[in-house]
Amino acid sequence: GHGRLGTAAERGSARSANRAEIVSFEPATGAEVWRGKASDIDDVVARARRAWPAWAAQPLSTRMELVRRFANEVRKDADKLATIIARETGKPMWEARIEVENVVNKVEVSIRAYAERTAQRKLDNALQGTMAVRHKPHGVLAVLGPYNMPAHLPNSHIVPALIAGNVVIFKPSEKAPATGELLARCFNRAGISAAVCQIAIGGPAEGQALVAHDDVDGVLFTGSANTGITINRKLSSRPDKMVVLEMGGNNAMVVWDTPKITDAAAIIVQSAFASSGQRCTAVRRLVVKSGMYDAVMAEVKSLADRLVFGAPFDEPAPFMGPVIDNIAADGLTESFLYLLSHGGRAIKHLVRPNDSLPFLSPSIIDTTAMKDRPDVELFGPILQVIRVDDFDEAIAEANNTRFGLAASLVGGSPQEYNKFWANTRAGIVNWNRPTISPSHAAPMGGIGLSGNHRPTGYYAADYCAYPVASGEIEQPRAMIGVGLR
Ligand code: NAD
Repeated sequence: GHGRLGTAAERGSARSANRAEIVSFEPATGAEVWRGKASDIDDVVARARRAWPAWAAQPLSTRMELVRRFANEVRKDADKLATIIARETGKPMWEARIEVENVVNKVEVSIRAYAERTAQRKLDNALQGTMAVRHKPHGVLAVLGPYNMPAHLPNSHIVPALIAGNVVIFKPSEKAPATGELLARCFNRAGISAAVCQIAIGGPAEGQALVAHDDVDGVLFTGSANTGITINRKLSSRPDKMVVLEMGGNNAMVVWDTPKITDAAAIIVQSAFASSGQRCTAVRRLVVKSGMYDAVMAEVKSLADRLVFGAPFDEPAPFMGPVIDNIAADGLTESFLYLLSHGGRAIKHLVRPNDSLPFLSPSIIDTTAMKDRPDVELFGPILQVIRVDDFDEAIAEANNTRFGLAASLVGGSPQEYNKFWANTRAGIVNWNRPTISPSHAAPMGGIGLSGNHRPTGYYAADYCAYPVASGEIEQPRAMIGVGLR
C-alpha cells in the first residue's frame, strides 16, 4: 500500500471532495441557476503565477487588441449574458442589458485611461540625461466581485488590470457564479487564456484564501464596508500588497428651492429605487427644505406608488425586481420596523407581497424625529427623509455619516451648489443629477467608510500599475565636487 497521505491523485480528490458546493438561485422564483464546486485557491494562484511573466512581456498593443476582442465576444453573447444577469440578480432584463453595454464600453474607456493616466513621460536634460517615468504591473491581482452588478463592477477592475499587464483571478460573488463564469469565458474566447484571466468559484472562504495568499500581489475588492474592513485588517501587515476597496454608502440627496418639482421627484425616485436600491450610489437619505417638503414629498410618493416591481422577464417590464434573497428581504423588513418603532413616520410602507420571495415595494420613511439614526447602509428600497430649515443644517445632515460615496443637490442656486460642493464629504458630488450611474469618464470612489482613496472608473489605471522613476544616461558620467582629500 501507499503511505498515510495517499497518492497525489488521492490527495487531490480528497481536497476537491472537501471543497464547498456553491449554488445560486433566481431571486424572483427561487429556482436554482447554477451549482458547482468551489475552486482550489492554491491551484488557481499557482496557475496565475506561472502565467504572469509571459503576459506582462506582451507588447501593450497586443493586450489592448485582446481586450478589444473580449468586447466583441461580449457583444456576440450580449443576450445570453443579460439573461443570466437578470436571472441571478432578479434585475429587469432592460437593466441587465444596460449592464452588458457597460461591460463593452469599459474596454475603450480603459484603453484611453491607461494611455492618459500612465503615459510614459520623459524629461531630457543635456547634463543629467533622461528622467523617465514608466509603469509596471503588480503581478497576480485578485478581483472580488459583489452581486449587485456581477459583470460590470468586477469587469471595471479586470479590464484595466489586464491592459496594465497583470494576470487576474476573478472571484465572482457566490450569489452570481453563472454570470462570472460566462464573463470569464468571454475573456478566454477572446484569446486571453484561462490562466491569465482565471475564474475562482467560491464565497467568503475562498475570498479570504485569496486575500491571505502570499503569491497574490493585490486585492481589488467591491462590496460591503464590513468585508472591506476585514480585508484591510487582514493585510495591515502587508503594505506591499495593492489593496483597493470600493465599499458602500449612506448617501444623501438635498432638495432645495426649485420650481421643477416633477423632475426633482423623478431624480429622487430613480436614485433611491433603481435596482431596488441595490446600488452602492443609491440615495438612502433625502434631506428636504421645510418649505419644499409637502410639495416634494407628495410628488415623490405618487411617483413611487406608480413604480412596478416584478420579475425580470415580466411584460410589460417592471421598474425594479426583487432584492437578492430572502435573508436580505428579512433584514430590510426588520430595519424598516426598527426605524418605525424608534420615531420614524412611514410615508410609504415597505410591503412584501409574498413571504417566501424577496420582492419588496419601494418604501419611504420620515426619520426627522429620530434621535440616533443608525448610520448603516440599508441596501434595498428604503428611503429615509429628513426635514431641515436652513442650508447649513442640510449640509450637516448630508455629512452626518461615516460613509462618503455619493451626494447630490437638487435645486438651489449656483452659490448654494458651490457651498454644497465645497462642504460635502463624498467622492461623487452632483447637482440636479441622480447619485447613481456614475460616468465612465470620471473617477469612481468614495471617502470615509466608502473606500480607501483608490477610486476605480477612469482612475483604475492608477492602481493597476506602479510608476518607476528612472534617471538614464548612456555612459557613466559623474564627479564628486566637495569633500575629497
Ligand atoms: P460582500 O462584501 O458581501 O461581498 C463582496 C465579495 O467579497 C464577494 O465576492 C464575497 O464572496 C467576498 N467576501 C465576503 N467576505 C469576505 C472575506 N471575509 N474576505 C474576502 N472576501 C470576502 O458584498 P455584496 O453584498 O456582494 O455587495 C453589496 C455591497 O457592495 C454593498 O455594500 C454595496 O454598497 C457595495 N458596492 C460598492 C460599490 C462601489 O463601487 N463602491 C459598487 C457596488 C456595490
